[in-house]
Amino acid sequence: MTCSNIYDLKKIPIYYEELRGKKLFTKALSEIDVNKKSVHLFYYKNANIPICALPKLGVVIISKRGFLSFCYNFYFFINSFNTKNIEISKQNIFSIAKSALSHEIGHLLDPNLSNIKSASNEIILSIANGIIKYNIDLKDDYYYKKNLPLEIEDSIIQFKKNNVTREINAWNIGKTIANFQSDTERYIFEKIKEYALATYNYGNLKDIVAENNVEKYIKSLL
Ligand SMILES: [Zn+2]
Repeated sequence: MTCSNIYDLKKIPIYYEELRGKKLFTKALSEIDVNKKSVHLFYYKNANIPICALPKLGVVIISKRGFLSFCYNFYFFINSFNTKNIEISKQNIFSIAKSALSHEIGHLLDPNLSNIKSASNEIILSIANGIIKYNIDLKDDYYYKKNLPLEIEDSIIQFKKNNVTREINAWNIGKTIANFQSDTERYIFEKIKEYALATYNYGNLKDIVAENNVEKYIKSLL
């Protein structure tokens, strides 16, 4: 990585402290066009949790380490393409926080979220049935890397597409509420969207099985 030649990454945590941790996010929230009563920010100073949303509860979870590593990874991403550089400045760290927060609030406001969720549940059921039908051995550590039946591969693709749709919806909604204060802020939002969509873990079969209680479901059927 040549990042350190161009950017002084050490400035990120310094600016973050100057922006005063949780205050940074409450200020970002105050600029976002949303009913403040419908968004609850949970801030963890010491936990390492990536920024995420719990839509049913109207909660956005933020942690200092989660946000700082988000910033580092974002600057590495930006630097690995020949795009316009985004300076490491206090204002830009603020705009990164605001963009990420707008996206998470986008999840809270997404009217299609429950449709997407039930479509995902259907897909998970068909994956579980495929695992039974083709006798896939989940105890084999490498089962998900082997040649999978087309039927299951198709379901995995559908599952990923569903996740992509969910993420894009949240970015689109985020954009409408972000209330950009400058062209740079708008540019940062677009680049973060690009970064997030490119690096999001859309899941392989193993993740899908682990994160959705597929094993338990299969046991209940057998
Ligand atoms: Zn998201």
